[in-house]
Amino acid sequence: SFEIIFVGRSNVGKSSLLRELFGAKVRIGKRPGVTLRPAHAQVSDMLITDMPGFGFMSGVKDRKQDIVKDKTVHYIEDNAKKIKLGVLVIDGPVFPQIVDRWDSRDQIPIDVEMFDFLREVGIDTIIAANKMDKIKENEYDPLLDEIAARLGLEPPWQNWKHIIAPISAKKGDMKALKGLLRDRLHEMKRDDLF
Ligand code: GDP
Repeated sequence: SFEIIFVGRSNVGKSSLLRELFGAKVRIGKRPGVTLRPAHAQVSDMLITDMPGFGFMSGVKDRKQDIVKDKTVHYIEDNAKKIKLGVLVIDGPVFPQIVDRWDSRDQIPIDVEMFDFLREVGIDTIIAANKMDKIKENEYDPLLDEIAARLGLEPPWQNWKHIIAPISAKKGDMKALKGLLRDRLHEMKRDDLF
């Protein structure tokens, strides 16, 4: 079958996004407790996989983050052939600072690492830049340029509109992401969704 995988840090709005995309059709997204296992939902012939957020958990933060990362990497490696599309959800407004903080410690930010990894294993990956409702109009394009640059996609971000989808799950402004998903599914001759 055909699989789409959703990945992202905790609190980026991945559950909200999944709810906006799939509504009551599927029950994925926020799950009680700390879970390290991917959640799945089947929508017609498409398998939707919600990976656990790369989370910070008080007390065991770095450890949990590593475990989630390892499990995510293994899951993706094991299923790479089947996974036709990846959606990496980021918190748009804070993404550049988060990346810079990791860089200043000479570490590769987990989001950037995941983006590179997904592409390395041949998975077409969309960046859902969420929470764009927090951004004023005049700061919108400059922020997206910064996001693109941090992902190794040379600005202007508009050159990467097939990869970067600015959205607000909270406001239900999902046009950019739905458009990209529709395009990808259309390319794969699956027109029934979105
Ligand atoms: P998850 O941990 O990635 O699944 O994130 P959630 O969907 O639970 O959202 C985390 C927090 O971010 C919640 O307080 C949401 O209300 C908030 N949030 C999610 N999407 C948006 C958005 O588009 N804009 C804003 N301003 N807040 C959002």
